[in-house]
Amino acid sequence: MRVGLVGWRGMVGSVLMSRMVDESDFGLFDARFFSTSNAGGQLPAGLAVLPRVEPRLYDASDLASLQECDVVLTCQGSDYTKQVYEPLRKAGWSGYWIDAAKTLRMNDDAIIVLDPVNQPVIDQALNKGIKNFVGGNCTVSCMLMGVGALFKAGLVEFIAATTYQAASGGGAQHMRELLNQMGSLNASVRQLLDDPASAILEIDRQVLQTQKGLSAEQTQHFLVPLAGNLIPWIDADRGDGTSLEEWKGGAETNKILGRGPGFNQPAIPIDSICVRIGAMRCHSQSLTIKLNKNVPLKDIEQMIAEDNPWVRLVPNTKEDSIHHLTPIQVTGSLNIAVGRLRKLALGDQYLGAFTIGDQLLWGAAEPLRRMLRILLKA
Ligand code: NAP
Repeated sequence: MRVGLVGWRGMVGSVLMSRMVDESDFGLFDARFFSTSNAGGQLPAGLAVLPRVEPRLYDASDLASLQECDVVLTCQGSDYTKQVYEPLRKAGWSGYWIDAAKTLRMNDDAIIVLDPVNQPVIDQALNKGIKNFVGGNCTVSCMLMGVGALFKAGLVEFIAATTYQAASGGGAQHMRELLNQMGSLNASVRQLLDDPASAILEIDRQVLQTQKGLSAEQTQHFLVPLAGNLIPWIDADRGDGTSLEEWKGGAETNKILGRGPGFNQPAIPIDSICVRIGAMRCHSQSLTIKLNKNVPLKDIEQMIAEDNPWVRLVPNTKEDSIHHLTPIQVTGSLNIAVGRLRKLALGDQYLGAFTIGDQLLWGAAEPLRRMLRILLKA
């Protein structure tokens, strides 16, 4: 099998490459690397030493070279998918397309992949000859890896969520912007901070003045300051009071679970308010889950803890929550932390939960890597 890799140098792509190396995926197939910016160049030394890789970079828009691949795996983004996918299919290519971008996710001939949650949906699709497998929205995938057990047990009546999404969800430039803004804020009050006798309200006033005075260049990616602030809107405005990120929460969760339009099971209502915060990496969310019956909390904890090898149940205490239920603790690991589990004052069927996952791992790279493995076994 020859696998064409596109977008391997971006944020998601770099994490994917690192995971594929860690799991010794290279060597199981012939790998051809594509580039949108350096066609004809050489593969970086770190990748060139891997087994069965071609040393030169191919042009990512060259359909003929892409057609020679049995699988194209792209983390390049939605613009690339929009530009290349249709022409490639029209040219007669019938290989497998694995993609991190949103473009094809909701198409009838595409499956959203998250195999620890929806392996049966993937198996069914492969049997039906489906060729497009797309990674889900990062927040959705991390949430399902955390509380997927409740869906599998048929216990969820609805979920209302508030998300706390990291700067890196926007890509590398967004992380840099946040850090630069943090530096500007600190610099603007450094002398006052050094003086223990300075007035805190003066520091506060000067920080606010700096935040409001950040230039268009300093807020180029988030459009407004994120340092010392939050932004209660992520992705496009759908014009009906919801953001695209919020819409994905309901639509993609149900599609991953094989529910809603096109499936035999009704959709489960899932809605959220999605918020960008100044965390570097990891998407967190606070969930209000209405169960369709009163299930004892200890049974719920056991179900969640045993659902998959990556869930880490965090006891609902202050000590455990502040030490183990934070983006800093989860970043860079495949662990999905689930904590603050308790029955809410709203009633016995209402469950509160807080989940955190690294949105570049389970939220992006890992489901794609695992889909490639599934294809290699098929
Ligand atoms: P990204 O970091 O912007 O990378 C995308 C492409 O940008 C790279 O493959 C590279 O293509 C090009 N690029 C240009 N300058 C670069 C530089 N200085 N460093 C690295 N790459 C550079 O995008 P991403 O965050 O990985 O997202 C890729 C796709 O995954 C998007 O569709 C996104 O929506 C989706 N996704 C992202 C996340 C996330 O948390 N970031 C999570 C889930 C899904 P060439 O090598 O061809 O030049």
